[in-house]
Amino acid sequence: MRYALYRWSWAALDWLFPPTCGGCDMPGERWCQDCQEIAARIEPPLCECCGQTTSGDTLCARCVDSPPKMTAIRSWAIFDGPVREALHRVKYQRDVALAEVLTRPLVEYVGSLDWHLDIVAPVPLSRDRQKERGYNQAALLAKPLALGLGLRYCNHALARRRDTRSQVGLNLDQRRQNVEGAFQASRSLVAGKAVLVVDDVATSGSTLDASAEALWHAGAENVYGMTLARAVLVSNKP
Ligand SMILES: [Zn+2]
Ligand SMILES: [Zn+2]
Repeated sequence: MRYALYRWSWAALDWLFPPTCGGCDMPGERWCQDCQEIAARIEPPLCECCGQTTSGDTLCARCVDSPPKMTAIRSWAIFDGPVREALHRVKYQRDVALAEVLTRPLVEYVGSLDWHLDIVAPVPLSRDRQKERGYNQAALLAKPLALGLGLRYCNHALARRRDTRSQVGLNLDQRRQNVEGAFQASRSLVAGKAVLVVDDVATSGSTLDASAEALWHAGAENVYGMTLARAVLVSNKP
């Protein structure tokens, strides 16, 4: 019921102010059928652990070498084309309604997995960025996802212990070092719980790893990750 209300409130707003598509700017809808169709999905077979496409094995080479700290990670689409445009709009224009539309396929996707979940938590922004932007784009996705899944939304399950620089332009090792130990989790909210951590984009997975570490440390029973998009890390060299 709360999820339906959440969705209707935006539909009413659309009637007053007709939106344009977050992916292609076409007037009429927040996210058009064309963009939904051309959004590049991550093709199976998927690595059971990190959710990247594999050549047919159950685990990818990277997860065999050093598995992520989450039980499993999945992403809905590749960070490219209309998905990239739409996430840009969510991130820099605080398009809350677009974020809700984008999480609809995620609700379906998570529902199709055999993940037993208790709570949903967004990856927190650094304090500086939160102050500067005024909102956290991961939370704009995590909240409707929690409502759609009928799970408790815990905005404060994870917090930043220290500020980190942007991961943009860093290689794999630098990304890991940049976010290592950057998070802490609230024991009272997460102990004994299966937590779904939500972010907009995953690139190397270091941010999800660092948040998983904090959650395990605070006694979480299980930790999963879901991002709307997965960016392809082009080079491992600085
Ligand atoms: Zn479109
Ligand atoms: Zn993998």
